[in-house]
Amino acid sequence: MARKIAIKIDVDTKRGYTQGVPNMLDVFQKHGVKASFFFSMGPDNSGKAIRRIFRKGFLTKMLRTKAPSTYGLKTILYGTLLPAPLIVEPNPAPLLRAMEEEHDCGIHCWDHVYWQDKLSHLPEAKIREHLTKACNLFEKVTHQKPHFCGAPGWQVTADSLKVQQEFGFDFCSDVRGYYPFYPVMDGREFSPLQIPGTLLTMDEVLGIMGVTEKNIVDYWLKNCDKQWNVFTIHAEMEGLSKLSILDDFITKAKQQKFEFVLLKEGKKVPQIRKCRVYAGTLPGRAGTLARQSDPIE
Ligand SMILES: [Zn+2]
Repeated sequence: MARKIAIKIDVDTKRGYTQGVPNMLDVFQKHGVKASFFFSMGPDNSGKAIRRIFRKGFLTKMLRTKAPSTYGLKTILYGTLLPAPLIVEPNPAPLLRAMEEEHDCGIHCWDHVYWQDKLSHLPEAKIREHLTKACNLFEKVTHQKPHFCGAPGWQVTADSLKVQQEFGFDFCSDVRGYYPFYPVMDGREFSPLQIPGTLLTMDEVLGIMGVTEKNIVDYWLKNCDKQWNVFTIHAEMEGLSKLSILDDFITKAKQQKFEFVLLKEGKKVPQIRKCRVYAGTLPGRAGTLARQSDPIE
């Protein structure tokens, strides 16, 4: 049986959405590959992420990944010196094109920076309000209810998992781990299956561990060492200045006989177990993020 790779695309900013998504769709079309997109639906407040400068490791990551040239100067001022523009509403075309071309489309969030920086203190009602806005706009634009969701920055609380469960999502991808699982957090169990990302992202590895733009594709493919692999990329990076790396990745993966599938195929893998979700760390990423424990039963 061919080893599988599901491509998960996080769309975090207006520039990633308007320019990165169409670029990626062209690459997918060229290779006949289908992927799963997670859209930030509301305002692009990227400039406010500058608050994270006070967090250990953030500045070195920004410099290591050349953030100003990757994201564009405007993007890093949105929500501070420039007003935060809405991402999807003024321009539904990239989302609609992705759907038309049979990619799987779902929700990342309403406001990426807000969720990523504030979730740990947010009451359930606020989380519900944000997800409701995102889902309503998604439905207004596509005439379909979103059937999956993935939290910004892999930031999760038991309350956010509960609210996601209320929305009746088919599955969620909020966690970093190794295999699809039923999530347990703070002693509470939640029904939407978690399909975690299994590879380190470009911004986590580029410039460290000997990984360069020249060898990153080989690094990733070497780490697609299981039957089921989830490869997370960003419209702002692999859709813009790093587009050729995405193209290369797909070309080489096909040469190595990997099969590209939608993330929802993760529902069909055998022997899905219960695992805890806990706040852990990863090399190359500042702060904590949701990680998958070993199976608990
Ligand atoms: Zn994101």
